[in-house]
Amino acid sequence: MAPDPASSTSDTPSEDAEPSLPAFIIEGARSSRAKCKTCRKAIPLGGLRLGILVEGPYGMGHMWHHLECAAERHFEKLEEAYGLAAWNFAKEVPEPIPALEDLAKLKVEADKQRAEKKELPYAELDPSGRARCKLCDELIGKGTPRVALGRSVEFGQQTRTTPINIHPACVADALQAEDNATEVDGFSEALRTNSKGLDAKLIEDVLGLVGSLY
Ligand SMILES: [Zn+2]
Ligand SMILES: [Zn+2]
Repeated sequence: MAPDPASSTSDTPSEDAEPSLPAFIIEGARSSRAKCKTCRKAIPLGGLRLGILVEGPYGMGHMWHHLECAAERHFEKLEEAYGLAAWNFAKEVPEPIPALEDLAKLKVEADKQRAEKKELPYAELDPSGRARCKLCDELIGKGTPRVALGRSVEFGQQTRTTPINIHPACVADALQAEDNATEVDGFSEALRTNSKGLDAKLIEDVLGLVGSLY
């Protein structure tokens, strides 16, 4: 490993000329201009934020995140910042500083939501027996497999994809619908990847019922 010249001496003039920035700062935002790098929304004046030191195109600087966003998406960094009592690097130490245990709850909740978010298409077992197949309009038997496909729905100017439930045997025709939003190419692979609740054997059974696509 190459020796680090910056750490070898502390009396080098060039090193002293530029005070080193702290790796983290926790502070109340000093303006309302900065945007959170996680959610891209504004950080209000006085809103608690975590600055993470990064090397950018113009040198070293802090990237700001809402403290809550940092908890949800960069918890390890937040933990480090708390370990360093990073609020002491603020121009004005913010008050009160939320407990790290409370922020940890946000992370747990966010992780849970991400894990539960299902990507289309996926197969699952029908939980109720009350859902109708959106292609043939027949009920889907309780405990039998069904496939969730994407359907394009217009909301004002926007088009969004919502899940619809389909019998495995109706999938091939449903994929031909005009408002279908699920790719035919790579369908089997996507179903294997996304059907997290089903074992591999059952997924293959579902694909057998789906049959060949056109
Ligand atoms: Zn944010
Ligand atoms: Zn059907």
